Amino acid sequence: MPSRKFADGEVVMGRWPGSVLYYEVQVTSYDDVAHLYTVKYKDGTELALKESDIRSQSSFKHRKSQSSSSSPSRRSSSRSRSRSRSPGRPAKGRRRSASQSREQKDDKKKIVQETSLALAVLVLFKPSENNTKRYNGEPESTEKNDTSCIILEQKLKPDLEIKRVLEQYSLRSRKDDKKTEEIFSEKKTFVALKPIEKVPSKTKELEFGGRIGTFMMILLLPATVFYLLLMCKQDDPSLLNFPPLPALESLWEWRVFGVFLLWFSLQAVFSLLPIGKVVEGLPLSNGRKLQYRINGFYAFILTAAAIGALLYFQFELYYLYDHFMQFAASALAFSLALSIYLYVRSLKAPEEELAPGGNSGYFIYDFFTGHELNPRIGSFDLKYFCELRPGLIGWVVINLAMLLAEMKIHNLSVPSLSMILVNSFQLLYVVDALWFEEAVLTTMDITHDGFGFMLAFGDLVWVPFVYSLQAFYLVGHPTTITWPVAAAITVLNCIGYYIFRSANSQKNNFRRNPADPKLANLKFIPTATGKGLLVTGWWGFVRHPNYLGDIIMALAWSLPCGFNHILPYFYVIYFICLLVHREARDEHHCKQKYGLAWERYCQRVPYRIFPYIY
Ligand code: NDP
Repeated sequence: MPSRKFADGEVVMGRWPGSVLYYEVQVTSYDDVAHLYTVKYKDGTELALKESDIRSQSSFKHRKSQSSSSSPSRRSSSRSRSRSRSPGRPAKGRRRSASQSREQKDDKKKIVQETSLALAVLVLFKPSENNTKRYNGEPESTEKNDTSCIILEQKLKPDLEIKRVLEQYSLRSRKDDKKTEEIFSEKKTFVALKPIEKVPSKTKELEFGGRIGTFMMILLLPATVFYLLLMCKQDDPSLLNFPPLPALESLWEWRVFGVFLLWFSLQAVFSLLPIGKVVEGLPLSNGRKLQYRINGFYAFILTAAAIGALLYFQFELYYLYDHFMQFAASALAFSLALSIYLYVRSLKAPEEELAPGGNSGYFIYDFFTGHELNPRIGSFDLKYFCELRPGLIGWVVINLAMLLAEMKIHNLSVPSLSMILVNSFQLLYVVDALWFEEAVLTTMDITHDGFGFMLAFGDLVWVPFVYSLQAFYLVGHPTTITWPVAAAITVLNCIGYYIFRSANSQKNNFRRNPADPKLANLKFIPTATGKGLLVTGWWGFVRHPNYLGDIIMALAWSLPCGFNHILPYFYVIYFICLLVHREARDEHHCKQKYGLAWERYCQRVPYRIFPYIY
């Protein structure tokens, strides 16, 4: 096996794929298996290059002084202008004389042609996603649904593009080059680079507040669940009215734990039934695609039938309300045990099956974030299963139990209007998630995050026991709303749902089939990964329209609880924080994936979630 020629941290010249252009890049890592160097451009773009596409800087400097050289730097040497540039450098052209200016113009045109050619070659060859996902330096070009190289090239009209290309690929004097080289070679420019997905290495950039943050979350998140539930049980759930702590032993009951295990197993059995289609997930870092059976909606129907049968045989769902804290404790114990299991098995998992995060070497951090991307027992995918089944379907069952408990406790022949709204809105949300189950395969949870305490706890404890807070609250704090108010809240929920659903569908359909005639009216910025970034439709309105719809719905779920207490609004407040943080994480990943194309998207669509606000 040949040894590597360039060391990590070394500043070298990297060839732009499909072209003869070389840029200054810094080597960030080396993949021994694929024999690829991961290099980073000055604008943050990351790209995997073969050794043959990399040259030392000294070889370029030497050639620059020889005007007859045939290297990529030769053309620039005659005009004291280097083309060994990175896509991120600022333009600093200078006017001298008319002839020089003409010369420069010609040169600019030449650059544009070269750039077009490079792009054309790049698109034509359609390099594999694993490689291309790191290449981001294409010029802006908003197209209809067609990424063919011909159209792309036609769009690069010199007149319109020269300025932009100059800005993007930064023609400037060698003096400026030198300055930039000096800046570039400073170590601080390259600290804390996040390793890209294909090259498994130590997690350097810690999220969620690092070790301390994750430690606090492991303690505080479960405490928050119990705090909220205890508050809800109080007659006066004001924030300052701190609930008395229950005896620890009162939180545990083996029978309840048994029921929880039964529930989990039942859902596991449903998920393994050979009903529903089997689809492939997104390609993993090794190019492999995992298969998933899509039968969440069937599982929901079967669960509904099972619950219906229990009710028919006079089984009291009130038991769930009565032992709610114990159920939460059982789910917490189970998620902790599951997280320990996941952590231990991740230590032995093959490298290509690991998530980019979760390998910091700090136990607490890795335990929290998880390291194995798709832990499976045979064909049973633990993360995928937990994402949508026991917790999500459990949430609906809990809501139903609260509805029945309200009727029983308050001696009602029909549930309150508030309870009906909360149940219906959240039922719609869960049914939607199960109906469009396939869409979960492209979410960050499945494609990027490892499976650890964060997701296990989130899926099994947080979702069912915190998201059902409004229904739990309404049992102890009856709230009367009028029909017009109910109608207004319903309209709000429908607006939120419409935005949420159409935005998600627009993106999912576009990702599945960009050439779909139904999407022909949408425009997008092509990126070198082969994927486009929509800039019209919902995704041209704000950068996360689906989050906007989700937040509007969250508000509609809280409003039926009235304004006596802030407790039922916990969900919407928390959810805004969650989605703002999630948006920032996604933004960071997209910047890495798409580089300049992402920046251009951000310029075109400046607001993240709330138009004109954020
Ligand atoms: P999104 O569905 O918002 O997907 C983000 C990804 O979409 C990006 O990484 C990028 O991936 C792609 N993308 C971004 N911009 C564009 C664009 N302009 N054109 C095309 N593709 C683009 O991410 P989430 O997984 O966070 O959310 C999924 C849904 O789940 C949302 O509706 C959200 O509200 C909901 N959710 C609900 C939670 C809850 O607890 N109730 C918690 C978290 C999320 P790529 O380019 O690689 O395709």
